[in-house]
Amino acid sequence: MTHNWIIKSIFVVAIITIIIISGVQFYQHRHYQLPIVAGPGVTKVTYLSDYCSSLKGTMADTRVFFLEGKEEGGKILVFANTHSNEPAAILSALVFIENALVDKGTVIVIPQFNNSGSRNTKPGDGYPLYFEITTKWGSKKFRMGNRNASPLDQWPDPDVYVHYPDRQLLSFLDVRNTNRTWPGRPDGQLMEKVTYATMELIKKEKVDLAVDVHGAETMFPVTNCIVAPQKSMRIATMTSLTVHAMEGFENHVEPSPEGFRGLSHREIGDYSDALPFLLEAPVPFLDQPTGPKTLDLLLSGKDPFLLSLSKQKKLFVPYDESGWPMEKRVGQHCSVILEIMNQFSRKNPDRGIKISNVPRYADVVKNGVGHYYHDPDEAKKESIIFN
Ligand SMILES: [Zn+2]
Repeated sequence: MTHNWIIKSIFVVAIITIIIISGVQFYQHRHYQLPIVAGPGVTKVTYLSDYCSSLKGTMADTRVFFLEGKEEGGKILVFANTHSNEPAAILSALVFIENALVDKGTVIVIPQFNNSGSRNTKPGDGYPLYFEITTKWGSKKFRMGNRNASPLDQWPDPDVYVHYPDRQLLSFLDVRNTNRTWPGRPDGQLMEKVTYATMELIKKEKVDLAVDVHGAETMFPVTNCIVAPQKSMRIATMTSLTVHAMEGFENHVEPSPEGFRGLSHREIGDYSDALPFLLEAPVPFLDQPTGPKTLDLLLSGKDPFLLSLSKQKKLFVPYDESGWPMEKRVGQHCSVILEIMNQFSRKNPDRGIKISNVPRYADVVKNGVGHYYHDPDEAKKESIIFN
């Protein structure tokens, strides 16, 4: 063998080894099942494909949790992981599923809305495959997903994404973004089926309030806020003022732009009777000018570069040495969702929703997020749902 061939062979073996090791890791991530402990308030767990049969059997199908009160009332849908790289959303959804007790009305929760996106990753941006939340009984492991659905589930992407039904031209990447494919259609692309199924759920179940839970960069103006169209504006404004006055945190209101199509806070309001809201909490991990994308940055939100940018007034949120810890973000989401329900119930007593045992901002900040998760090893087998 010549010297050249030895070098070439070493390279080939090294590349094959890297492909095998990373391939196994990506496969395990895509197929990791998150155990969710259905709390005492959960009355049934269904699939999103029950509202659109063409979703059945795909990686985009996902679990839907119903928490129905004894007394009839209004209905709220809370969905998280529209973007699976904004983890405070799924963490908040699980706080509701594992703890909420419903006296009146119905709470419907979809914790992994873009289920395919939660099985996708972005190694080029330093995304970890998983993150863990510490609890009293150990730690709970979550998949860290991506903003868009996996190309393994929906491919190829077009050169330009033509939104249905408005025919507005959007970025090709947004064809896999479930916050650009509303209201969707049953025979369209896979992500259009996800949003179509949810529109069907909203109409068939007569949902009054639809809350899409997100997170956004601290350098992006639409962050730490409630996005609402005109029809939801009164409740959004009252919620923002109330949490500020009673609980001391900022969460301003942003109007949903009328001309920008495909967004949940636009299309749900235009195509159904429900009042939509989109919640944003800061995600320093997603900002571009940060240090290494570590798990600590993901959970604590502490970064020296953002701190220096904050001193130059370049951020859209208050930011100091304490960063933006996960418990603050989850606490905000819990309080804002509870307050949206309160405000709606005050004006619509016959469609009121009354729930208890969900912590508010100060409780989550004090106790941590993991305090509200139950040990799957201690739970009854039938109440553990894998998704
Ligand atoms: Zn988002």
